[in-house]
Amino acid sequence: MAVLDQLTSQEAMDLENKYGAHNYHPLPVVLSKGEGVYVWDVEGKKYYDFLSAYSAVNQGHCHPKIVGAMTEQAKNLTLTSRAFYNDMLGRYEKYATEYFGFDKLLPMNTGAEAVETALKICRKWAYEVKNIDENEAEIIVCKNNFHGRTTTIISFSNDPVARKNFGPYTNGFIKIDYDNLEQLEDALKNNKNVAGFLVEPIQGEAGVYVPSEDYLSKAKALCEKYNVLFIADEVQTGIARTGRLLATCGNCTCEDKNCSGTPEVKPDVLILGKALSGGAYPVSAVLANDNVMNVIRPGNHGSTFGGNPVAAAVAIAALEVVKEEDLAQKAFDLGELFRAEINKYIETSNIVNLVRGKGLLNAIVINDDEDSDTAWNICLALRDNGLLAKPTHGNIIRFAPPLVMTKEQLLDCVSIITKTLEAFEK
Ligand SMILES: *Cc1c(COP(=O)(O)O)cnc(C)c1O
Repeated sequence: MAVLDQLTSQEAMDLENKYGAHNYHPLPVVLSKGEGVYVWDVEGKKYYDFLSAYSAVNQGHCHPKIVGAMTEQAKNLTLTSRAFYNDMLGRYEKYATEYFGFDKLLPMNTGAEAVETALKICRKWAYEVKNIDENEAEIIVCKNNFHGRTTTIISFSNDPVARKNFGPYTNGFIKIDYDNLEQLEDALKNNKNVAGFLVEPIQGEAGVYVPSEDYLSKAKALCEKYNVLFIADEVQTGIARTGRLLATCGNCTCEDKNCSGTPEVKPDVLILGKALSGGAYPVSAVLANDNVMNVIRPGNHGSTFGGNPVAAAVAIAALEVVKEEDLAQKAFDLGELFRAEINKYIETSNIVNLVRGKGLLNAIVINDDEDSDTAWNICLALRDNGLLAKPTHGNIIRFAPPLVMTKEQLLDCVSIITKTLEAFEK
């Protein structure tokens, strides 16, 4: 079989199983094409994508503007490394810092790298600005977090599957409950070594846990009170997914077209990834103001590909699409509609307990055990009915379609979902 022969789905899955490391457990569907809210498998069957590559494809698959920017730039210059300047990076940094309202940006590639970068910045700030004793800095994190897969990041995960047999672990992290301000203040007071608080505005991988209304603003106020950095991991929640440009926008619904992000809860350090490129290319970033970012000096940190000209061109285009197509407002409106429709279904359902989320980052909780395979089986049935979603746990299914969806398409999806669920009612 030649490498470029057309594969059947079974052949493609067999190849991955035989030659690829088994570090994922994909839903059995093999995709070969995407456009907007749709993807197609190798046999030509069309699906609604209700995962959006974990919210990387907010702007829709293969957005022509983003693909255009990528291919144009790829013809001119793809990589210089940061040993030299390139003519795209500065433009992108200016655009993105103005867009989100920060002084500076540090470019990386993946979400995990950007989280690592934020942790390093936070520690260095702790020693050089806050004057914590060397090697004593601690960073507060939340239980059930997901921040990526590096050795340091899994050191403060409490997912046994992500952690076991990957030790020894990195020190310097304090774990508290999510959405618990009392525990946050307890961890902050009487501990002069706390440097930062790293938090997801909504815990996505944990199952789309939305914290109490005032959690983020009060947590930010506590961080200010104790002089620690509020670090928002918006890799999944950012870039319009939750109905605002950023989930840390407080009560802003982004009706204000000039909204530059974070009037109410402005993080000291903002971590972005995923949809920063619209899913076209690995692009991530850490944003902060000068008082924080200036602790980073030549040689302290870097990445061969971070800030490459293709990434810069792609990210500018991807961010422009978010504004031009008013994706935050769309996510807000469609999210309200989605939860209202699913709630109607839940009224008479035994199989679904609840729907929760913000904007188009939502999840349903299935009435079964956490370690059951009901959610997986529902996802297989959804696939058969033309909609792709993935469980986050045995009993939770995340629903996060591209934000470029129309109202008609969303209602079509609701009907696929409710019809599928009906077959599982006891
Ligand atoms: C996906 C994700 C990451 C990690 O991003 P990668 O690009 O997979 O390394 C970090 N934080 C959050 C909140 C995420 O959802």
